[in-house]
Amino acid sequence: MRDAFGRVLASEVRSDVDWPPFDTSAMDGYAVRLSDAAAANAELAERPGLVAAGDPPASPLAPGEAVRVMTGAPLPPNAEAVIPVEEIRRMDGRIVAAAAPRAGEHVRRRGESLTAGSALLPPGRRLSAADVALAALAGADPVLVRRRPRISIAVTGNELVAASGRPGPGQLRDSNGPMLAALCAARGLPAALSPPVADEDAAVHRLFHEAGRGEDVLITSGGVSAGDLDLLPERAARAGFELLFHGVAVRPGKPIAFGKRNATIWFGLPGNPVSTSVCFHVFVRTALDLLEGAEPAGPVFLQARLTAGVSLRGRRESYRDALLSAVEGEHRVLPLQSRGSHDLAAHAKANALIRIPADAQTIEPGSLVECLLL
Ligand code: AMP
Ligand code: MG
Repeated sequence: MRDAFGRVLASEVRSDVDWPPFDTSAMDGYAVRLSDAAAANAELAERPGLVAAGDPPASPLAPGEAVRVMTGAPLPPNAEAVIPVEEIRRMDGRIVAAAAPRAGEHVRRRGESLTAGSALLPPGRRLSAADVALAALAGADPVLVRRRPRISIAVTGNELVAASGRPGPGQLRDSNGPMLAALCAARGLPAALSPPVADEDAAVHRLFHEAGRGEDVLITSGGVSAGDLDLLPERAARAGFELLFHGVAVRPGKPIAFGKRNATIWFGLPGNPVSTSVCFHVFVRTALDLLEGAEPAGPVFLQARLTAGVSLRGRRESYRDALLSAVEGEHRVLPLQSRGSHDLAAHAKANALIRIPADAQTIEPGSLVECLLL
């Protein structure tokens, strides 16, 4: 059951029990009938012993009788209220209740939260911790979940050395590989990460020929723009991938490529780290959710008020690093200064992306904008 956290439900969860499963006490106190404690300082006879959680239900209250009950104890069938122990004075075999209880006070009635047979969780729901708890109490263990997509990640570029390595002249460390693995892990998806692939025919050829053996989704970074060493789209097509799109009117992320071969899909993300990340959030997340059968699919958007103006260049839909916060009962969003799609330092500060529609003009402070939650 604990493995179900973060997974997508394959079939509806219904409860096989009422919840609470029996009339029970919400407090440590005394179970009483209302007519026996109708006035302040009513005196009742205390039944010897007590009823604790896990005990069988106590026998019905006799007239003028009170039974000591612990939180979670099953109540006598005719109990109408529980008087907390703090409001009781005890004296040899009798109790005095300071005030008259209201009907049902501190009593949890059987089935008041949910009834046996009621639908609790729909298929397609990604299970939160509370959902796991709900499924557990409802008798849904083991719970049926959807298969997770199998993912492999490959970064490309002659300039790359492993994150653990020391870059030589003209080289840089691979940050996209660890980032993509982390982005998948954040969605509960394990991903295989292969060593950097060189911008060479043979290496790229091998990448696409081996694709699909162990994974449903291949995510690459780099090698999809217009440079002489950007080999991936053409080599993917040669290896039998149908290229479904290559290039989008989105900033950053313009050169992204997407293809499919049999049951394997390929996302060719651009290599600049912020582009890689934005493309993952804007495109890959939705695809991964759809493959897993999760509803709703894709990132969460919400509206927030701009706290600084945004000036725009170009005609593409764009995504800007931003810091979202809740202030005075509304969401506010501050656009972060970024030097561009290589500025991972700025991106790492962001907790949201402002989505700016294509062809938008300068957006004034105070405007409402749409934000993608990272
Ligand atoms: P590309 O899309 O292959 O033209 O790559 C664009 C730029 O992104 C490169 O010049 C690198 O500076 C950077 N880059 C590419 N791959 C990675 C990576 N795996 N990690 C960090 N930076 C990368
Ligand atoms: Mg490259």
